[in-house]
Order: sequence, then structure tokens, then C-alpha cells
Amino acid sequence: MEQVKSYADSRLLNGCIYCGGPANTREHVPSKVFLDKPYPENLPIVNACLECNNGFSSDEEYAATFIEVVSSGTLDTSKIKRERVIEILERTPSLKSRIQHSIIRNSSTTTFNMEVERIKRIIIKLAQGHVAFELSEQCEDTPYSIWWGDINKMTEEEKKDFASDTIVDILSEIGSRHSRKLMIVETLLKDVNDNIKKVEMIVNPWIEVQENRYEYITDIVGHFIRVKLLIGGYFACQVVWSS
Ligand SMILES: [Zn+2]
Repeated sequence: MEQVKSYADSRLLNGCIYCGGPANTREHVPSKVFLDKPYPENLPIVNACLECNNGFSSDEEYAATFIEVVSSGTLDTSKIKRERVIEILERTPSLKSRIQHSIIRNSSTTTFNMEVERIKRIIIKLAQGHVAFELSEQCEDTPYSIWWGDINKMTEEEKKDFASDTIVDILSEIGSRHSRKLMIVETLLKDVNDNIKKVEMIVNPWIEVQENRYEYITDIVGHFIRVKLLIGGYFACQVVWSS
């Protein structure tokens, strides 16, 4: 990934970005468990403490595995594409059996019953990492809102709304990576008299960490900080904090 150097005030991000405690390690956002080899170079890195860093790992393995298993519609490792997930399922029979027991089958459909709290914890964690890296903001509080769902089950309008880049109206902390990634786009608009006018808009683009695997966008909307994620090409999430 191409990285932009942050010129935000480094005092804005003291310590572990998850708990605010002293940071004694650094970690990738997103964690590599959500990505496939070869990993993109220059993955975003944030400060964390060892306790948070280790404390998330089993839930992260669960989330990455669950998302892939649902996408494959099976726990049969010969039919799962992601090598990392096959390795997790083979190494952790207890995880495999938990997901196995969460399957609800009826005559025509197979549904996987998600462990909601674990998925929620990881979505928030991922979003916190992106906010820290992109906006130089620390969001330790409970989010104002969080939702997730299958992008394929959205209406065309919802999909478009979720997946489009945003037009910026408030600039983030000057110097943060986010403000330096914004693009100025020139658009031609026609007025009522058919006169064509050139308009400049500031666009905040989605960031593709790995194609069809992991994408995100962070932005500031009024008094809210919003993060959207698209994992595995279908698992759409949004986390909002009141700033
Ligand atoms: Zn911590």
C-alpha cells in the first residue's frame, strides 16, 4: 500500500490506541488474519499494549474464519479458498466445532448463527485502528452506532450509498493522513440554462488494502467519526463515534 506520512500532532495519540494504557508494541491494521499472502507492503501500523494485542487474537481468528465460512457456505476445508482460514480450522478443532454447532439447516437454506459479541468486538477494534491511523483520533468510548450485514442483501440504493467515496465537508485534523489523501476532482455540471460549469469537489476515497479482501473508508461527518469496512467482498460494516 502506498502510505502517506502523518503530520498530525503525535501527542494526539498517546499510548495504546485501544485502551489508552502505555503502548509497548505495534500492530497492523487490519491484522494479517484478514488478508491473504502475499501481504501488501507498508500495512498501516498503530501503537498498542501487549494485553490488547494478545487479547483480540482469538476473536480475530473467529471473525476472519466466520466471514470466510459463511462466504463459502461450508466448513469443508477442501472448498474454502483462504489458506489462512484452512490453517486456523485445522489447528483449532474447538473453533471448527463451535462454528459447526452454530449452523442452522432447514430444507433449502443453511444459516450460520454468529457469535455477535465477538464479531462486534473485532469490528470496533478494526475501526479504532483505522481511525487512529487515518484521522489521528483515539476512539476508546462505546460507539454511537454499529451495524453490519451482507452487501448483497442491500438494495441498489443502499449499496451505492455504502460503497461510494464521500464528498468532504469538514476537514479532519490538519496534517493527518486522511486530510492528505483527499483528492480534488473536477466535475462538469450543467445549469438550468444548459451552461456547463466546472466545479471542484474534495473527495475522500475508499482505501483498498487488498482487492476483494479488505477495504475501508474513514471520514468525519458533522460531529461524528465514521468508519466503513468491506471484508471478503461482502461483509459490510459501519461504526460511528460521536466526536
Ligand atoms: Zn491496550
